[in-house]
This record gives sequence, C-alpha cells and structure tokens, in this order.
Amino acid sequence: MDKRTQRLEQADRSLELNSQQLSGLLDTVLERLGPHLDSIDTQDAWQPPVTGQRPDNVLPAQGLPIEQVLDDLFEQRLFPAYNPASPGYMAYIPGGGLVHSAVADLIANIVNRYVAVWQTAPRLAELEMEVIGWFRQMLKLPDTASGFLTTGGSLANWSAVVTARRCRLPEDFLNGMIYTSDQAHHSIARAASLAGFPQANLRLIKSDGDYRASLEHLRQLIEEDRQAGQRPFMVVGHAGTTNTGAVDDLQGLAEICQQHELWFHVDAAYGGAFMLTERGQQAMAGIEQSDSVTLDPHKGMFLPYGTGCLMVRRLEDLYAAHAVDVDYLPQMQDDPYRADICQISPELSRDFRGLRVWLPIQAFGFDTFRNYLDEKLDLAHWATRQLQDIPAIEVMAAPQLSILAFRLKPDGLSEDKLTKLNEVFLKRINGDTQRVCLSATRLDGSFAIRICIVVFRTHLDRVRECLELIRQAAEELTGALGESLTGS
Ligand SMILES: *Cc1c(COP(=O)(O)O)cnc(C)c1O
Repeated sequence: MDKRTQRLEQADRSLELNSQQLSGLLDTVLERLGPHLDSIDTQDAWQPPVTGQRPDNVLPAQGLPIEQVLDDLFEQRLFPAYNPASPGYMAYIPGGGLVHSAVADLIANIVNRYVAVWQTAPRLAELEMEVIGWFRQMLKLPDTASGFLTTGGSLANWSAVVTARRCRLPEDFLNGMIYTSDQAHHSIARAASLAGFPQANLRLIKSDGDYRASLEHLRQLIEEDRQAGQRPFMVVGHAGTTNTGAVDDLQGLAEICQQHELWFHVDAAYGGAFMLTERGQQAMAGIEQSDSVTLDPHKGMFLPYGTGCLMVRRLEDLYAAHAVDVDYLPQMQDDPYRADICQISPELSRDFRGLRVWLPIQAFGFDTFRNYLDEKLDLAHWATRQLQDIPAIEVMAAPQLSILAFRLKPDGLSEDKLTKLNEVFLKRINGDTQRVCLSATRLDGSFAIRICIVVFRTHLDRVRECLELIRQAAEELTGALGESLTGS
C-alpha cells in the first residue's frame, strides 16, 4: 500500500460517536443539566451583567475532556444572565423552554434529515406541515391556508410584508403604504425597511385608551394617502401588543381592509397561542379573516427560542413571494400536502424545527397547553386585582391577555418625579431578592412597569411573591416620600 492510501486507511474518526459513547456523553451532560433543571425554582430570576475579563480567545487546536468543557459552561457562563426559564421571569415577553423540545432537537440533530425539500424526507416534511395544519385550525383559518416555521416573529413579519408586497403591488412598489398602530412591535418597521420600503411608507395609527389601533384614524390615513397619490396596500393589526398585550379590533380592521382591498396581516406573535382558550378567541375575533398571521410558538406555546411561524390564507401567495426555479435540486412538488418548504419560505438549508413543535404537542396534547394558557390569563387578572388594593398604585393597562402595566402614583408629583420614583420602584422589586424580573416601557410618554405572564413554570405562588415585593416596595417608597414631605 502506498503512503497516501495508508494515511487514508488511518483517517481520524473521532467525530463518529457510537451509541455507547453517546450514552456516556449524555450521562455527563445530565450530571449537570439534571441539578440545573431541579434548581430552576430557586435560581435567580435575573442577574445584572458583570463586565468580566475578556477571554483570551485562543483557537482550540486540541480537544479538552468533556467534563472540563461542561464545567466551564455550567459554572462560568450560564450566569450572570436573565433567566427566562425561571417562574419569576415576567419581563419583556419570555420564551419557554419545554424539555420535550430539547429532546426533539437532540433527535432531529442526530438523524439530521433535510426537510426543506419534500422529496428528501417526505414523511418529515409532512410532519412539519402537520404542525402548520394544527396552527391553521387553532387560528380558525380556512383550509386553503398554510405557512411555515421561522426562527421567530421578526422573520415571520418580514416574510409577511414581502408576501403582501409581491401579491398586492407592482414591481415598482415605492408608493405602497403600510399601516400599523403606534403600539406596534419594532419588527414591523424593520420588516418594512427590509422589504424595501422607505421609512415614511410605514404609517402609525394612533391607539385609543385601551391601546388598540383607532379605526377612525386608520380610515383618515388611508384617505390622506390616497389623495396624495400613494397606494395603501397593507394593514398590520396586533393580537397582543408587546407593551400591554392589547388586542386590536381585528373585526373592524378586517372590514376596512376588505373595503379598501388591503392585505390584512395580524401580528399575533405573543397573543396567537391564546386562541386555544375561549377568552382568547373572544378577544381575537376577526383573526380568521386575515391574509396572514405571525405566531411565536416560542412564546405562547412555551417552546425554546428559535421557533416562530407565518401563516398565510392562500398557500399560492407564499409560492408567489418565495419560489424560484433551480436546476440542481430535486423535482419540486405540486401537491399542497407535499410542500417543499424551501419554495414557500426564505430559507433553504435549515434545522428540522418542526419536530421541536410536534413532539411536545403529541406528548401533551393541546388541552394541556390550553390549561396552562387559561391559568396565565387567570394569574394576570389575579395580579391586577391585588394591585388595585395597594394604595398609590395606578393600573395603567388592565390585562387583555396576560400582560398588564402599572406604576406608583402618589398625589402631587410631576411626570419627571414619577419617572424617577418608578425607576427606583422597579429596581427595588427586581433587585432586592432577584426572585422576580419585571421590565418597563413607556405608555403615552409615562414610565410604566409591566408584568407579563407566559413562562409555563409561573404559578400562583410566584405571582403572589411578586405582589408581596411590589406591596413592600410601594409602602417603603410612599412612606419615605411622606416623611420627606412632612419632615424638614
Ligand atoms: C416578540 C414579538 C415579535 C418578535 O418576535 P421574535 O420572535 O422576537 O423575533 C414581533 N411582534 C410581537 C407582537 C412580539 O411580541
């Protein structure tokens, strides 16, 4: 045998694990992951970032023992961090982290199938479309509707704007106008920009006292733009705004869209999953008339980060926006049940993210998710009633779903002073124990503290603890304020 053949005979095979090695690896992982999982309740809900020493960033030429690698990860790097896995995490809009999804990812990544082209893994591509079919039913969309899984709501909103543009505007689209509420998630503005629209083509509809887009103002904007020679083509309604969880009058928006032949997109990234509940269905009535819907299973379905979804009323619209002819890929399909995901979405190679959704839903059933979501709605209402009993607390936004906003508002303070007071208030609530993490926003210019309950591990005990922390901090701050007013 010549030297070169000999070298090939002895090629490095260390990447190729067998089942026994996998087992050993998983045991080593579980030695750390197990205690981590069991201690989530007692872990801090958040920790402030610390500016550590920058690592040397030496390129690792040789491998290290896995124990050492995992120790570095678990002991040095998991914290400091905000902890969206914690039941005390009620900030922003947290993602979930179902363990069954992690197991699904393990399976998906080891079997390593290519699902973006139907032919290359037909039963698995169909599995992903099965998930899309469940979401279609959940949102009460017609049989013609379909969609695809994205990495998140931002990507879904972007594809929605591109699809609407392709289906409703000519190639020369720069006079196309998009309308959304002043409470819109910022990903809508980014989507419009990424889809090629000048900033001025995104028009903000004023929201009303309940933070819902004003239908009156929308009609006015459309009229103004028409008069100015612009071309209105898309309205983005919200089913659960990020600030307060407000749900627009989707029925009303749908009617305006129908009348003016506009594409009606609903950003239900946060709220969509609540369609499993009766209250959610009532709040979001009209969503079934939309042309497209953004959904974030990594929020309301408690999945790990990286799982969004865009649903579109007519599958052919997704083809119109995304399909491209290629010579070097297998034959694409015509049958809608054999969708080639790469032809209806912006990605080609991607993870098999459908399994991450499919497996936990198969294992627990939608009823379990409904139970959890109903509980979150109840918890938000419970927290609101408790807040209303605390002196000097103003509930600024009662929950329409599972988000609410409030502030401390003692008499006689200017807006500036109120902002300063509430910044300290929030620091006290979050900081003293790190048992809860709340975040803030601005509502009509005023500083507002939010409670957002969508972590599946959040139950009454932690919400009660949160309210206790709020009550204590409110008493201390208003007490101190009283002293400084009556004192010298
Ligand atoms: C979270 C959210 C988004 C963005 O979704 P990502 O998954 O973070 O990209 C968009 N719209 C709304 C209403 C959201 O709540």
